[in-house]
Amino acid sequence: MFSFLCLVELALPMSQTLVDNYGRRIRKLRVSLTDQCNLRCHYCMPVDATFLDQSSYLSYQEYAEIIGELIALGLEEVRLTGGEPLLRSNFTEIVRSIGQLKLKKIGLTTNGIVLDRHLDTLGGNNVLDLNVSLDSLNAKTFSEITHRNCLNTILRNLELASRQGFKIKLNTVVMRGINDREIFDLIEYAKRWEMEIRFLEIMRIGYACRHQEKTFISAQELLAKIQQKYSLKPIQSALDATAFRYSTSCGGIIGFIASESQPFCGHCSRWRLSVDGTLRACLLKNEGINIRNFSSLERQHVYQQLLGMKPYLRPPEVSHAMHQIGG
Ligand code: SAM
Ligand code: SF4
Repeated sequence: MFSFLCLVELALPMSQTLVDNYGRRIRKLRVSLTDQCNLRCHYCMPVDATFLDQSSYLSYQEYAEIIGELIALGLEEVRLTGGEPLLRSNFTEIVRSIGQLKLKKIGLTTNGIVLDRHLDTLGGNNVLDLNVSLDSLNAKTFSEITHRNCLNTILRNLELASRQGFKIKLNTVVMRGINDREIFDLIEYAKRWEMEIRFLEIMRIGYACRHQEKTFISAQELLAKIQQKYSLKPIQSALDATAFRYSTSCGGIIGFIASESQPFCGHCSRWRLSVDGTLRACLLKNEGINIRNFSSLERQHVYQQLLGMKPYLRPPEVSHAMHQIGG
C-alpha cells in the first residue's frame, strides 16, 4: 500500500472539488446496497445468478464515512440502487445514516416489489425521489421479462407511493418485439398517476449483450412514433442529466435515456459505489478501486486517482453485470 500511495501522491495534486481534466465535476453518486434481487430481468441477470457473500458488504457506518468524505469534495446527490436496494436487511439503518448527511438529494431506484414496507422510512428521511422500473403493464410480458409474477404488487405499491406524494419516475427499457407495443399504454398510465416516464435504450452491458442488437430501439425511433400521436414540447434539463425530456399534449412528461445512440459521457457527473466497496468512475468500466478497508487518507488519494479513470468517449460493449456494479 505504501508504494502505491507514494506514487499516487507524486502524480496527483489534491483538489478540494472533484473536477477532472475535461471539466466534469463529480456531484452525483450511485450507491449499491446489495447485488441481490427478487426479479431476474433477462437483460440484467440470469435466473441462476450468484451473489456476493454478505460479509463483503459495506456497513452503514462505512457508507456514511465514504459519502461524507465525498460531500466535502462537492458531492451533492446520492441515488440508492442495486440489485434491489430494498432487499438490504438493514435498509432502514443505512437510509437513516445517509439521511443525516448534508446532501441536496437522496433518490432510490427500485423494482417496487416491497416498496410499501419502506415508504415510512423513505418519507421520514427525505428520500422522496423514486425511480421505479416498469417494463410492462401486461402480466404475461412482465413475467417473460422478469421471470416473476408480481406485476399487480408493483402497480399497487406505485399507486400507494404516488398517493402519498412521492415523486415517481418510471423506468422502462424498451425492447423491439417484447414491450414496444405498450409505449402508449405506459405513457397513459404514468400520466394518470402523475408520474414521469422514461424510456431507456437497452445497453450493451453484461447479460443484455446477447439480445441487445436484436431488440434495440433508438430513442429517436421511439420519439418519432410518439410524435405521431402527441405533440411534444422540450423541457430544459441540467447539463449532466441522463434524460432529455418533453411534456406531451396529453399532459404527461416523457424522458429518453439514449445511452447507446446519444451517449452523455462528455457531461457525466457520476461515480458508482458497489456494495463491496469498489468505487468506479463509470458504469461501463469494470476497473474500479476497492476502498473498503482503506483509511480516510488512503481514500482521499483514491478519489484523486479516480478522476483520471473516467472515460470521455463511451466505452463499447462490456461484459460485467449491471446488478453487480449498481445500475
Ligand atoms: N433493481 C432496481 C431496478 O430495477 O430499478 C435497481 C437496479 S437496476 C440495475 C437499475 C436500472 O437499470 C433499472 O431501471 C433497469 O431497468 C436498468 N437496466 C438494467 N440493465 C439494463 C440494460 N442492459 N440496459 C438498460 N437498462 C438496464
Ligand atoms: Fe433486479 Fe433491477 Fe436487475 Fe431487474 S433490473 S433484475 S429488478 S436489479
